[in-house]
Amino acid sequence: MKLSGVMLRLILTIFLVISGSFLSVKTWSDKSEEIKKTSKITVTPGMTVGELINTYSIPEKVILKFFGPEKTALMKQPVSDYISENKNLIENLEQSIALYEENQTKNWFKIPLKFMLWFIFMGSVFYMIKTKILNPRRRILLYVSGVIVFGIILGADPSPMGTIKDAIALYGEKHVVFKPRMIALAVFLFTVFAANKMICAWGCQFGMLQDLIFRINRNNDDKKGILKQYKIPFVVTNSIRILFFTIFTITALIWSYDIISDIDPFKIFKPKFLLVPGIIMLTILLIGSIFIYRPWCHLFCPFGLAGWLVEKISIYKIVVDYDKCTTCLACEKACPSTVMSAILRRDKIIPDCFSCGTCINACNFDAVSFTSAKRTKPEADFFT
Ligand code: SF4
Ligand code: SF4
Repeated sequence: MKLSGVMLRLILTIFLVISGSFLSVKTWSDKSEEIKKTSKITVTPGMTVGELINTYSIPEKVILKFFGPEKTALMKQPVSDYISENKNLIENLEQSIALYEENQTKNWFKIPLKFMLWFIFMGSVFYMIKTKILNPRRRILLYVSGVIVFGIILGADPSPMGTIKDAIALYGEKHVVFKPRMIALAVFLFTVFAANKMICAWGCQFGMLQDLIFRINRNNDDKKGILKQYKIPFVVTNSIRILFFTIFTITALIWSYDIISDIDPFKIFKPKFLLVPGIIMLTILLIGSIFIYRPWCHLFCPFGLAGWLVEKISIYKIVVDYDKCTTCLACEKACPSTVMSAILRRDKIIPDCFSCGTCINACNFDAVSFTSAKRTKPEADFFT
């Protein structure tokens, strides 16, 4: 009965997300928001500028940049004349086309709107965690709202994960850096720095979906799973994440191949781009989220890894007041992962904390807070 109840809620959630995303993608413009594969330019002997432009459908903006406004007069000139003046002409042309295409695939109305709503949403949740008014019911409502607004309505792009993944993939393929993406990445990392992984916790569309599914399988006071939930040791999850990131980066930079693209779970918010490997990966992750806290974040996400490094210097974070702590360990048991145990004991390595606030609710002695205060160390025998 318990199993069927949890599974029913899981299936309903997935159905609503996929069907809602289908409708949402249709109502937005036809921007693909995918890195476009552009063909390599080959100049054949005697090829003219006009033939080059027509063969590779070079956009007007790029033509103007390279050949100037009097391009009509140059249509019959051999490309080799230009190559002799500009040795890297073809490579530069390919890079300019890649940047142009990248710009064209973006929805420049949706992106600023999404960032504005992100800041309003994250700011509100930040206030609720800080003032300790975020309870389990409100947490669920916030995850549902976050998934609807930032995932179903505003789609898969941009996302914190996408900024890192696409920056590396595009650089690997075309050796170019798309500046707006780097600005977005800097903004995301700043939110991690300001308040412990706030963007992953309360902004990332797929992160919140995993969190919502995990909470579907929790009791009413959000302290333990209805079906058993597991906490995988951080050394295991982080080793897999580092290995995956290393393989992704090497294959992108050396072979120009993006290994995440086909299994990218964010495509649940643009289902028409889902292929068989993506469907298999999504199924594993979504069912896995019932039992394990945020499997994609802990095991694979490149931004999860970068964010984990930055959160070491976050200003606002979970802090324990050892004068109030009675060592009941309620916060550690309620925390969805192993991080509260590490924070409580001030371990050398602190796993990812997703600023969910569950530990704050679990403590009956007001000993856990989300604050800018420095973490102190308990006495050596405090927990014995
Ligand atoms: S770690 Fe999780 S929440 Fe953060 S960007 Fe990756 S998928 Fe999103
Ligand atoms: S320590 Fe655990 S329960 Fe507390 S905010 Fe972080 S992830 Fe949530």
